Amino acid sequence: MIKKRECGNCSLCCEVMAVEDINKKEYQKCENQGLGCRIHNEKPDQCKSFACAWLEGNIPYDLKPDNVGFFVTSQGTEDYPLVSIHSKWSLDKLKKRKLATQWLDAVTKSVPGVFVGANGKRTLFGNPEIIKKAVLDAKKKLDNVEATTGDGIPG
Ligand code: SF4
Ligand code: SF4
Repeated sequence: MIKKRECGNCSLCCEVMAVEDINKKEYQKCENQGLGCRIHNEKPDQCKSFACAWLEGNIPYDLKPDNVGFFVTSQGTEDYPLVSIHSKWSLDKLKKRKLATQWLDAVTKSVPGVFVGANGKRTLFGNPEIIKKAVLDAKKKLDNVEATTGDGIPG
């Protein structure tokens, strides 16, 4: 993991991701969240080792998670790339942000995406041809995936 940027005031992943070591569930605020992490030096390894795609410098600077309401992780393999977009909002709310929508549309024309939104609801989306190939495999790997075959993010 290479961190090329600083999280600054962002703590979106702390709210959204599950952290098994401290029994924190998905979409539950962490009790250690303050301005940053209150237990910074003793935080779980899972937290120490986590970096979203923005922090790694792999997506545009303007898409800083606390500005746009989502963060990105990549999964899959070279042959079968898959991005996950995590947000504490619903997809409908996220889509009101033009910058986010434009980026999601552009990325998922070539790489399938799983949107993991409010309450952990998962939606697989992207280019129909790619989705067709990806959907069965993704369904095997991910629980509760609702697949769409629309072009780009679901309307
Ligand atoms: S979502 Fe990314 S930028 Fe925000 S706190 Fe987590 S790792 Fe840092
Ligand atoms: S322990 Fe710290 S870094 Fe980990 S989720 Fe909680 S606030 Fe975030």
